Amino acid sequence: MSVENVIIIGSGPAGFTAGLYTSRAQLNPLLITGNEIGGQVALTNEIENYPGFPDGVTGGELVERFQKQAERFGTRIEYDYVSEVDFSEHPFTIRTQFGSEYKTKSVIISTGATPRKLQIPGEEELTGRGVSYCGTCDGFFFRGKEVVVIGGGDSAIEEGIFLTRFATKVTVIHRRDELRASKILQKRAFENEKMAFIWDTIPLSINAGENGAVNSVTLKNVKTDEVSDFPTDGVFIFIGHAPNGQIFDGQLDMVDGYVVTDKYMHTSIPGVFAAGEIQDNRFRQVASSVGQGTQAAMEAEKFLLELEDRTYEDVAAELSGA
Ligand code: NAP
Repeated sequence: MSVENVIIIGSGPAGFTAGLYTSRAQLNPLLITGNEIGGQVALTNEIENYPGFPDGVTGGELVERFQKQAERFGTRIEYDYVSEVDFSEHPFTIRTQFGSEYKTKSVIISTGATPRKLQIPGEEELTGRGVSYCGTCDGFFFRGKEVVVIGGGDSAIEEGIFLTRFATKVTVIHRRDELRASKILQKRAFENEKMAFIWDTIPLSINAGENGAVNSVTLKNVKTDEVSDFPTDGVFIFIGHAPNGQIFDGQLDMVDGYVVTDKYMHTSIPGVFAAGEIQDNRFRQVASSVGQGTQAAMEAEKFLLELEDRTYEDVAAELSGA
């Protein structure tokens, strides 16, 4: 079996950027996409804060551009999902859902994060029948209908504003009396006539009507404990994200599901790097993920250069400060 120089796991902004840099460095990288190309960005309607696009850009277009640029310099793309890794021996082993096995000298992890669930009755059963985690994907199905948005962060407010293009009314239900979202988004939301707000309130369950689709949410006011039913055709949930790191459990140092890296994007295993939301629960921006993908790629390049005339054990010992 041939040994790869570098395998990049994940196809979000960090992954494609790592592909761009490592391919331009002539490392012939292999990028394994995961189930959703582009990750969360691909599902974002409009991105206004990525430099170079003064008029904004859709998530889909940005991902397409990232991929094209990475491929232009020779990044090989595999449409597969990594199901298992073994970092205990070098070269490392990577296995996929479709049954491929790879050996590689270095790895860049950029598996990102996925939307967090409320874990309340009705949520799972009604996903796709009125419950959604993506306005861009599903907003169209709610033309002329009324929907609720759960959450008070940037995602909830941005997606809520987007949903007013389709829905006649978008009611944001937030557990506090103040939004977490940025001031500019808050201002837009408060000025939008189709948006309404219910404060200090959490959903207890999502309920179906006779047709098996969502027709109400049961809400509880956390200050008064009052419980009530609120009629709605759709429930959009934006309560943050959980890192996609289960396959690294026991292989790398992790905290709360996030892969731990130092400031150079090195994980606890020399030769394994991580970039983007899998190791960043603070910034979580396209621009910061791109920067981290760049750093991880440059460090992988340096690591591979070191390996050219030394053993893995020697390089690893030096990196660990031994
Ligand atoms: P977030 O900032 O973590 O916000 C999550 C929201 O959900 C918070 O308002 C939180 O309430 C609420 N929440 C959490 N768990 C809940 C539960 N169990 N029940 C009810 N509500 C719950 O997540 P995000 O909005 O997805 O944003 C993630 C990151 O991406 C942030 O750094 C954000 O700035 C960034 N982002 C930026 C943009 C942009 O710049 N345009 C767009 C989207 C996302 P509390 O406020 O009470 O904690």
